Amino acid sequence: MTKSNENTRKIAVLTSGGDAAGMNAAVRAVAKMGLYRGCEVFIVREGWAGLVAGNVNAAPADVRPPPQRAGKYHGNQDVEGEKFAATFGEGELLQEGAGEGLKGRHILKVGWDDVRGWMDIGGTLIGTARCAEFREKEGRETAAFNLISLGIDALVVIGGDGSLTGADRLRGEWPSLLDDLEKSKRISAEQRSKHAHLTITGIVGSIDNDMAMTDITIGAPTALHRISEAVDSIGSTASSHSRAFVVEVMGRHCGWLAVMAGLACGADYIFIPERPPKSEDWESEMCNGLKSHREHGKRKTIVIVAEGALDRQLKPIKPAYVADILTKRLQLDTRVTTLGHVQRGGKPCAYDRLLATLQGVEAVEAVLDATPQTPSYMIGLKENKVKRVSLMDAVKATAGVGDAIEKKDFDQALQLRDPEFLENLEAFDYSTIVGDNKHLPEGQRLRIGIIHVGAPAGGMNAATREAARFCLARGHTPLAIYNGFEGLWAEAGNGVQPLSWLQVDNWSSRGGSELGTNRSLPADDLDSTSKALQNHNIDALLMIGGYEAYTAIQTLKNARTNYPAFQISMAVIPATLSNNVPLTEFSVGSDTALNALVDACDAIKQSAAASRNRVFVVETQGGKCGYLATVGALATGANIVYTPELGMDLGLVQSDVEFLKRRFALDVKGKSDGRFIIRNEKASSVYSTEFLTNMLKEEGKELFDSRAANLGHTLQGGTPSPIDRARACRLAVRCIKFLEDNSTSRQAGAKDESAAVIVIENGQVRLAPVEDVSKVADDKNRRGMDPWWTHLKHLVEVLSGRRTLAGGRHHEERMNK
Ligand code: ADP
Repeated sequence: MTKSNENTRKIAVLTSGGDAAGMNAAVRAVAKMGLYRGCEVFIVREGWAGLVAGNVNAAPADVRPPPQRAGKYHGNQDVEGEKFAATFGEGELLQEGAGEGLKGRHILKVGWDDVRGWMDIGGTLIGTARCAEFREKEGRETAAFNLISLGIDALVVIGGDGSLTGADRLRGEWPSLLDDLEKSKRISAEQRSKHAHLTITGIVGSIDNDMAMTDITIGAPTALHRISEAVDSIGSTASSHSRAFVVEVMGRHCGWLAVMAGLACGADYIFIPERPPKSEDWESEMCNGLKSHREHGKRKTIVIVAEGALDRQLKPIKPAYVADILTKRLQLDTRVTTLGHVQRGGKPCAYDRLLATLQGVEAVEAVLDATPQTPSYMIGLKENKVKRVSLMDAVKATAGVGDAIEKKDFDQALQLRDPEFLENLEAFDYSTIVGDNKHLPEGQRLRIGIIHVGAPAGGMNAATREAARFCLARGHTPLAIYNGFEGLWAEAGNGVQPLSWLQVDNWSSRGGSELGTNRSLPADDLDSTSKALQNHNIDALLMIGGYEAYTAIQTLKNARTNYPAFQISMAVIPATLSNNVPLTEFSVGSDTALNALVDACDAIKQSAAASRNRVFVVETQGGKCGYLATVGALATGANIVYTPELGMDLGLVQSDVEFLKRRFALDVKGKSDGRFIIRNEKASSVYSTEFLTNMLKEEGKELFDSRAANLGHTLQGGTPSPIDRARACRLAVRCIKFLEDNSTSRQAGAKDESAAVIVIENGQVRLAPVEDVSKVADDKNRRGMDPWWTHLKHLVEVLSGRRTLAGGRHHEERMNK
């Protein structure tokens, strides 16, 4: 371990409150980033309880003989050996082992390799607990004493609103705690002045997504995955027996999980705390809605109840009571499923790993930037950016939702949620409407064509389902265009057909493309495209696809002068696993692909680790866009990533080989980890996956060998991820509204020149005119310019140790070539 000096920052990290998937990834990121930035890093086991208990039999691990390394790397002498062993060694955690050795010791110094392999493990490996003592001042005083005894001056707390409230109290009270400790002579005046300030940074780990001032909390996306898997499974048995299921999901004060699951799984009804049912007689309101679904031919009924659901009088709505009503009033064979702790379990999904990693890194930066004048921060996510917000304000605002609900001010409670929450809720409502109470006047109803373009992507069907349901609720006719533009051109057959409410019912969870899709484009046959749109009286067109869909809308727009049939309102929902549509931060399908990549890499990593000394070269799809490779590398803990944007050259590959040699040489004998490289299929035409694999085999000698794995089409994913499904629904509603608005003004006499791509920019949804997209399009390489994720490549290098260990050049230096 590194010898500390006076100025070395000592950071401790703890996890507290309810566990959440992704907490380990956050601890890992704090540890690695802290070490990279020259700090000493400690983990506190068992949350606040561990901090209060401190270290009883403190036996310093530093006196142990250093573990035997796998072998020396005889390369560049000035970067070899001890210097790196210092950073890359094991800390007390691995040296002590997890069992008896840790008895009585709760605060341990960690080394780089202590957190190896933590990314894909659910829960929290450093333990969490609820701690009554910390709620009392004496408990917090002891915690402060333990921190000061070890010289720790910064604390990163990963937990829910309770844990962060505790952190905020510790921050507020710090000076008075020090006064008391000095008065009782537990600390010296010198210690008091040295520790006059404690830097506290909060990271929100909470599966409910109930913290204000951040759009998402660590663990919520994974919980949503678990819920969706469960509700999808329940769906098939419900359908078989024509049953109703009432599913209880977590969410004491926040309906995020229920809304997202309802949308992603195509549920029929939801109950959440922030928005009680409209009428006092909610039982009849619910029964009427569900009855109409059954009358439309549905064989299953799914009702999702958030654990904290309330009626207008704040009376809890409980699943057993809901089930009773359904049985008695609708004579449905009804079962209750309480998902409970299953929702906390399992591997973190890709998004949680990414979120936790980025927030852990930012927490360390916040600690290092802190001065006595800066406030304590909570690391949040706003507008797709990791941001620091005031911990005190966030704690206060979070309590605001609860207060509003208590005062029955439900509008206020909803307003305190972010706009995405409200849009998702609206999308859910529309997806369940049957009947004509939301129909537009006769003259404003449209025939809206829906077409899939290009390769399939997870969430295309969910988008189509939502678009169709929204159209039907508004009185429009949703027209399915089967088999892409080829299907549209076909004279014979039934290439264009209206979609019915029931027909799309099960499409939310289906992968692939229910409509059928291919790479044919309008430019291949403009005449037939125009004729078909006219023949079918199509008033507006929704295209769902990747770069092809963007190309198609450009073509149609540009040909408007010659083809009046194209003078209709048109919109594109970007849907592609490559996430290469310019301007948008996320395309539908990219989250599914990222999860498929993460799952595949977990399996590969396991195999690589089992054989102790293997490097896997994993090839991903993505065309000339490195999104999937880069973000995938960060989410899986890959050691190196190669992308088409930066390309590859001899110098780079050479320094990567040096890095791997040094890294393997630093492993403790017999404990070598499997390592892997992610290479986008188009990263280089010379340094192919095969070439790289063979070269590593040759160069690794006794230190490591290598294998290749090509993920190919598996990345399209099987079942689309719930995030993709919910995102697809939200975008579909916005697009149909856009088509509606523009067509209405056309009917009023204005010329309809609208053609837009719906994009997510700084986390906000916007219908961007095609020209806006073209401005940032790199058509030659079929990708956008300057995407938001470019800088993440640097983090891959930092967190894999490459940045520290490699001589020669670093990857991002190629950016300026
Ligand atoms: P979560 O962090 O998941 O919301 P809890 O509400 O149970 O979970 O809080 C976890 C721990 O944080 C508690 O056991 C307690 O030690 C501490 N804590 C919670 N609220 C406070 C508070 N108001 N003051 C001091 N400590 C608190």
